[in-house]
Amino acid sequence: MPLNKKDIIYLDSNATTEIDPAVVEAMMPYLTEFHGNPSSAYRFGNQNAQAVDDARDQVAALIGADPREIIFTSCGTESDNAALNSALLNNPTKKHIITSAVEHSAVIKHCKFLEKQGYQVTWLPVDSNGLITARQVEEAIRPETAAVSLMWANNETGVLFPVEEIAEVCSARKVLFHTDAVQAVGKIPINMKSNKIDTLAISGHKLHCPKGIGVLYVRRKVTFHPFMIGGGQERGKRGGTENVPYIIALGKACELAAQRMEEENTRVKALRDRLEQGLCSSIEGTKVNGGGAPRLPNTSNLAFPGIEAEAALVLLDQNKICASSGSACTTGSLEPSHVLTAMGLTASDARGSLRLSFSVYNTDDEVTKALEIIPQVVARLRAGNPVSA
Ligand code: PLP
Repeated sequence: MPLNKKDIIYLDSNATTEIDPAVVEAMMPYLTEFHGNPSSAYRFGNQNAQAVDDARDQVAALIGADPREIIFTSCGTESDNAALNSALLNNPTKKHIITSAVEHSAVIKHCKFLEKQGYQVTWLPVDSNGLITARQVEEAIRPETAAVSLMWANNETGVLFPVEEIAEVCSARKVLFHTDAVQAVGKIPINMKSNKIDTLAISGHKLHCPKGIGVLYVRRKVTFHPFMIGGGQERGKRGGTENVPYIIALGKACELAAQRMEEENTRVKALRDRLEQGLCSSIEGTKVNGGGAPRLPNTSNLAFPGIEAEAALVLLDQNKICASSGSACTTGSLEPSHVLTAMGLTASDARGSLRLSFSVYNTDDEVTKALEIIPQVVARLRAGNPVSA
């Protein structure tokens, strides 16, 4: 029998989020009724072009952008890849990229691929709180630097990089600055009118929208080379017939995110803080990874020395708690998290770390239950009891 969402305590919203019923309601007519192609000349198709543009306005409003700066893509990964590829095509003679050691695989694996193609990549290290400084970026920029790509919020720890300050440095040195804001959008206020970030990636499924829709923000003054070349959709910036229902869904999700921003930073943050503080006081030796840095309001990454997080996840799953031991993409691998390792955690602390991430759907009751279950799981593992016992 599949598990139902009412049976579980979902503490893994950085992996993906529950789809909001209002989002489903908004997109449904575009699955069942309005199937026209937005590029068609007749009204039944063309009215969908208007709906797509309304969604573009909703996305732009959430991040203080001009709607013309919003390009719909298939996911956050595509947006990150497209931004970097465009920057490299803009500067064909420049073969140097700056990024960090703690990025999501959407950026890390792309940069590793580019290294194999002959690009030089500077992997900026982070401090013990998972932070980098604008100064580090400034010192790493070279005449041959084509782009800097640094995430706004870390998916594993929630640590926030000073991207607006970094954008100032890059702008002064005339180097394109891309930020992977997949975890930041909707959780912290973002206003593209008051910063100098050139390109920014968004993913719908972190925002209570279905998986498989994203956005690339491209500042108007930035020349953009499309990654997907085809029928001239998205003002020639991303070919492929628009995914109308999911675009409508993302527009609605962004409208809701704007309305819920305050709740994220008050009620959701209070849930996160209660769980974090409760676990720190009830489980000896617990450490908050990135606890000394500015962080997202919804994310907690905790080291429980002496346990294997992978084993804890199995026991938590048996207790119907969904959590994560790193990014969803690396869960299951025996390697400790690259993010925690880069922060200088010992391999054993990194392997004993769990990520607990919240959304507006979480409740106080869930935190109360998690505060009962997680200490029991840690105690059982510390006592050396095998998972299957
Ligand atoms: N960047 C970050 C920071 C993420 O957390 C994720 C997803 O986990 C992505 C990029 C990739 O987004 P998508 O799953 O939409 O490709």
